[in-house]
Amino acid sequence: MPKQIFAKLIEKQEIIKDIYKFTVEAEEIVKIAKPGNFIEIRVSEETEPFLRRPISIYNLNKEQGTLEFIFQVKGKGTKILSKKEVQDKIDIIGPLGYGTFKQEGYKKIAIIGGGIGIFPLYELAKEAKNQGKEIAGYLGFRNKEYVMLEKEFKEVTSHLEITTDDGTYGKKGFAINSLIEDMEKEKYECLYACGPIPMLRAVQKYANENNIACQISLEEKMGCGLGVCLGCAVKTAKSPKDAPEYFHVCKGGPVFNARDVEF
Ligand SMILES: Cc1cc2nc3c(=O)[nH]c(=O)nc-3n(C[C@H](O)[C@H](O)[C@H](O)COP(=O)(O)OP(=O)(O)OC[C@H]3O[C@@H](n4cnc5c(N)ncnc54)[C@H](O)[C@@H]3O)c2cc1C
Repeated sequence: MPKQIFAKLIEKQEIIKDIYKFTVEAEEIVKIAKPGNFIEIRVSEETEPFLRRPISIYNLNKEQGTLEFIFQVKGKGTKILSKKEVQDKIDIIGPLGYGTFKQEGYKKIAIIGGGIGIFPLYELAKEAKNQGKEIAGYLGFRNKEYVMLEKEFKEVTSHLEITTDDGTYGKKGFAINSLIEDMEKEKYECLYACGPIPMLRAVQKYANENNIACQISLEEKMGCGLGVCLGCAVKTAKSPKDAPEYFHVCKGGPVFNARDVEF
């Protein structure tokens, strides 16, 4: 059951320009959160912006009862959030999301992340490592300036490939292409992806065509986060053309089986 808490901000770091990592005390959420869950943050006590902003859980520290999330300043809400200071209390509801990353039955897995979509994959990789799984990471960024969390992901993966679209850091090209090359010799049993829609489409296509299990986390624009406003609908893959059926990312996801959704 999600909880509403007023979490104390205990650490704030701008990891690259306009991307902040916040560490908050959130024991009640941390106790029950799973990889793939997200939180909804009320960034202001004023009526504007009214809607909470959804942000993925990046890291859970169960011993200390702290939670880390990372966000990019995009518009008004995240700008206000970025101005919070250590000791401030942040109004958070979480953990949210019914669909979380499932890794039972898999021993060798790969994560594929793009840009700010890499954040929810960290806790998954950490859990997989703690369970003794072999886990490879393929993280893609626009260019060198946007590369982040390399050291952190290295610690929780057995093989990490960083790609940049323009080749200014790591391997030139898209993360999915590096994964496909490696699949010739490595047989990952399940792929886990989060990132921009074109990347997710490519991962979904590859997984479906090659009959590989694949779970994707969608960061669809969201209203209430609780399944009431129906703002974050995505079409189900099996729905008839003349009568489309929808999932709601906040309630059904954010993590889905790649075979079930149509972008
Ligand atoms: C389940 C989920 C998890 C998310 N996790 C993270 C995270 O870990 N870190 C992070 O930085 N962001 C994450 N996002 C995206 C984040 O919620 C939005 O960037 C944020 O709500 C924008 O709020 P704003 O008020 O700053 O911008 P707004 O003023 O609302 O919008 C500013 C710009 O951002 C775009 N935008 C708004 N919402 C989204 C969205 N959901 N996805 C992409 N673009 C959007 C708008 O089109 C607009 O161009 C997540 C979204 C979802 C649904």
